[in-house]
Amino acid sequence: MKTFFTPLISNDTKGFWDGCKSHKLLFQKCDNCQKFRWPASIVCPNCSSMKFSYVEVAGSGTIISYVKYFRAFHSSIKENIPYVVAVIELNCGVTIISNIVDSDLDNVDCGKKVQIDWRSDKDKNEIPIFKLKDE
Ligand SMILES: [Zn+2]
Repeated sequence: MKTFFTPLISNDTKGFWDGCKSHKLLFQKCDNCQKFRWPASIVCPNCSSMKFSYVEVAGSGTIISYVKYFRAFHSSIKENIPYVVAVIELNCGVTIISNIVDSDLDNVDCGKKVQIDWRSDKDKNEIPIFKLKDE
């Protein structure tokens, strides 16, 4: 599967993408209130603290919503048809949007467990994607 995008890496997201290079999911966690910040930001949306640490989380989660695409809306992703974009709640509570790959797409459904996998983009970034667990 071809990756869909090349990330735009900013000062706020660099820590996340640096973790991805080592196949680690690193999220900002507020040093004050201990809540995860996702998407990454300079200030905690919960308590306004600017202090945070990067915390590695496991790449396991549950599909809470998804859509299957059967039409390429751009010729560059034609080879990916059909593909799934899913909203995944990681076990740590963070919700991430990604693709489900290397899985029987007929088995994709809300409540299904997923496990992280990785794909390289054209710029050698590692992109977190997911596949159904136990397939
Ligand atoms: Zn906070």
